[in-house]
Amino acid sequence: MLKGKFSVEVRQDEISEKIGLQLKEFLLSSHLTEDVENPDYVFAIGGDGTVLRTFNKYMDKLDTVKFLSIHTGHLGFYTDYSVQNYEKIFFDILALTPKIEEYPLLRVKAYCSNGDLVSDYYSLNEVTVNNHTGVTYAAKVYINGVHFESFRGDGLCISTPTGSTAYNKSLGGAVIHPQLPLYQVTEIAALNNLVYRTLGNPLILSQNDELMIKPIRPENHRITVDHMHYNYDSVAKIKITLSKEKKVSFIRYNEDSFWQRVKRSFIKND
Ligand code: NAD
Repeated sequence: MLKGKFSVEVRQDEISEKIGLQLKEFLLSSHLTEDVENPDYVFAIGGDGTVLRTFNKYMDKLDTVKFLSIHTGHLGFYTDYSVQNYEKIFFDILALTPKIEEYPLLRVKAYCSNGDLVSDYYSLNEVTVNNHTGVTYAAKVYINGVHFESFRGDGLCISTPTGSTAYNKSLGGAVIHPQLPLYQVTEIAALNNLVYRTLGNPLILSQNDELMIKPIRPENHRITVDHMHYNYDSVAKIKITLSKEKKVSFIRYNEDSFWQRVKRSFIKND
């Protein structure tokens, strides 16, 4: 049985709000207390987008917060419960001891030409870099300080293992087990010619590797982090690593494996 403080984050739609209310009443009657500021458990009810927004809200409290989600949309990669089976959560909370699964996050730092840090974010799904005016994005890519390739195209997508089933997958990246300590780089519409030559395949980097991207045209730079995007007048350098400081913890009650979720979402829902 869970003990402590909770918060329920709900997408603004009828079914999510109804389930949210029911869950809140259940948790209060089970002697947990509601504390939106400093919860031990955060329940996100909605879609993957709700999980991303909730994660972002509690970014500074990842050491103590554990997440659990009920999806009320079509897909729910971060969730074990759906509209069809959400009532099982009441039984599970009362009767079962949960497993806590930790997933790695990306850390992205951007610097301007005088070396000042202009942004420092953590990402649950992915980070993308591109030019927000729509001109071709050109950048030199370094791994551990050594020049690897020169990229020209729409941009680059750098994904966490849990984000591997999201944008990364649409770009032809590999689906990765969510607990592996690695991250993946995929190209977004790369141009390949005699001047710009890239590997062409997704790259999988280890937790000790640092990816550095130096835009050739620093102006009008955009960095997206999950569902958010940030535009900068100028960015000289972006450094991306798997975060050493932060991880995200999810509560798991059932044995529904990650690979079953992949099958159910992308191949066959039987
Ligand atoms: P959204 O909620 O409409 O999400 C877009 C889709 O991505 C939804 O179907 C959602 O279920 C799915 N999704 C999100 N995270 C996932 C994950 N980890 N695994 C599998 N599917 C996942 O839009 P939003 O709230 O702005 O979400 C932002 C996310 O949208 C980004 O993190 C990115 O992964 C995704 N996205 C995908 C594409 C693409 O596939 N071409 C393009 C842009 C953004």
